[in-house]
Amino acid sequence: MIFRKLREDKRNFDRNNTDENKVLDATLYSAYKGKLVIKMAGFGGRSFCLGAMFISPKESAGNKDSVNMVRHEYGHTQQIEKIGLLRYIFRIGIPSLRYGRVPLPDYYNLKTEITADILGGVSRESHTEEAILAGEKYLEGLI
Ligand SMILES: [Zn+2]
Repeated sequence: MIFRKLREDKRNFDRNNTDENKVLDATLYSAYKGKLVIKMAGFGGRSFCLGAMFISPKESAGNKDSVNMVRHEYGHTQQIEKIGLLRYIFRIGIPSLRYGRVPLPDYYNLKTEITADILGGVSRESHTEEAILAGEKYLEGLI
């Protein structure tokens, strides 16, 4: 069963895929806009990005929040392209992990997170102009 599914991933693999639902339908791996995507959860069962995108298996195709999760993690790959992986880990990844432990209604307004939304093409009603400007200023300061 798993080998059949992995063969399916291999057959479906398209490096330049732009369909979030194809990413969410994969068993173990796929690609999105040139980035490798692995189906695997990080700390606390969350999706994360370390150059490759890691999407939690709890995310599902056809779900708007899951589609936004794929776009958001892609936005993190764009942050990495701007500031480099090391700076990303210490100035965005680790701070976001810390914030992510507490229930935070406006997590995606954090200065470390909001530019991942913007660069990934996610718009949320919770975004404020003030948070967008603060996030852009923070990211530009890391370049
Ligand atoms: Zn994030």
